[in-house]
Amino acid sequence: MPETPALDPDILDKVINLAKRRGFIFQSAEIYGGFRSTYDYGPLGVNMLRNVKNAWWRTMVQMRHDVVGIDAAILGPPAVWAASGHLETFTDPLVDCRKCKERWREDKIDGVCPKCGSTEFTEARAFNLMFKTQAGPVEGEGATAYLRPETAQGMFTNFANVLSSTRKKPPFGIAQVGKSFRNEITPQNFVFRTREFEQMELEFFVPPSEADEWYRYWIDARFSWYQDLGIPAEMLRLHEHAKEDLSHYSKGTTDVEFLYPWGWDELEGIANRGDYDLTQHSTHSGQKLEYFDQAANERYTPYVIEPAAGATRAMMAFLLAAYHEDEVDGETRSVLRLDWRLAPYQVAVLPLSKKPELEGVSADVLARLQPYFMCDYDVTQSIGKRYRRQDEVGTPFCVTVDFDTLEDQSVTVRDRDTTTQVRVKIDDLLTHLRQATNQA
Ligand code: ATP
Repeated sequence: MPETPALDPDILDKVINLAKRRGFIFQSAEIYGGFRSTYDYGPLGVNMLRNVKNAWWRTMVQMRHDVVGIDAAILGPPAVWAASGHLETFTDPLVDCRKCKERWREDKIDGVCPKCGSTEFTEARAFNLMFKTQAGPVEGEGATAYLRPETAQGMFTNFANVLSSTRKKPPFGIAQVGKSFRNEITPQNFVFRTREFEQMELEFFVPPSEADEWYRYWIDARFSWYQDLGIPAEMLRLHEHAKEDLSHYSKGTTDVEFLYPWGWDELEGIANRGDYDLTQHSTHSGQKLEYFDQAANERYTPYVIEPAAGATRAMMAFLLAAYHEDEVDGETRSVLRLDWRLAPYQVAVLPLSKKPELEGVSADVLARLQPYFMCDYDVTQSIGKRYRRQDEVGTPFCVTVDFDTLEDQSVTVRDRDTTTQVRVKIDDLLTHLRQATNQA
């Protein structure tokens, strides 16, 4: 097992503070006192979250010939959730503290009330985590709808549609990124566990005889994905669930865990779900959800391997892993060492002063880079302060336009991590940055 690196005990507060101060993540409805456990993504956060989802989509869909995407509805009829088992079993054990009356999820508190320390609780009762609502103007059972608690069911209910419209055959996958909702009993730790969140899920359909092999394949692939995007190996580990802890449908589940400030906890789960989902939906809907292998003249229900990740939770892990404090010119700076693919801005264009001639050239430099990179443009404060502001939000490159630029048609490119500066001709700038980000 890898050694547990010492973490700054204040890192969570520092990242939450940075996230708010610099426009990554705000408390939702803050001007009304906030709405518990919901968050809004600000100008920088929306870029970063989008980058996390794009990085996932690129790896899981764009770079593969055997995966296609969908975007299914968030509202669903009870029939879907009856078939999936969510109506019956998507519950957490809810207990009330007899002393302070606070409600807790029993399996998360080790028998002691985190608020008042009491050990006296009511009997646990099963609390369903789905948000129930009403579709249309009529009340009553016929109008009941649920907000999806996971994106996965959209892939199962569309299995036959995707099969017939794309002519894919197992092994192949259907991917989806989108919002999910769970009425969590104890949402906590910033965006780690919220009631509204985003997921990135793949349902990979395989011949039953290949299920184990693909399960191992996806565990490796998903573990590598986080490392490739900059999370150090010592902050990641795999945790295979013991057979007796598996959900009723699962033939095997392994979590990718991240070392959060409170310890190791789930980042993503990879499960071998067998043929549970397709069989359930087939039985409940009366539609055949099978694959007919013409070559073998054989009809079968594919098994499903599911890598299920949280986009918002992953963004939090990327922020925590990237946050560093170091010393530059005798001063402490905070810097987000984000992979350029995840950084809210990849390039900041900084005219040394507000003089119109510098702003004119800077606007031209900005226009050349914008089609290829998400760029910030900042003319306020001293150049040193502006570098610090960009370091703090993880911008990998600052491009400074100074008075020499007017003479030599060159700019200074500063690297976030090393703080080294190089002089580059404006005409070579795009190529330089594309090479620096391994795109050329
Ligand atoms: P837990 O046991 O922690 O409640 P889970 O094992 O039920 O979570 P899954 O159903 O496997 O979680 O969901 C897949 C992924 O979706 C999780 O690994 C996580 O990244 C993300 N996720 C699940 N619930 C939440 C939530 N309430 N807030 C943010 N992300 C979530």
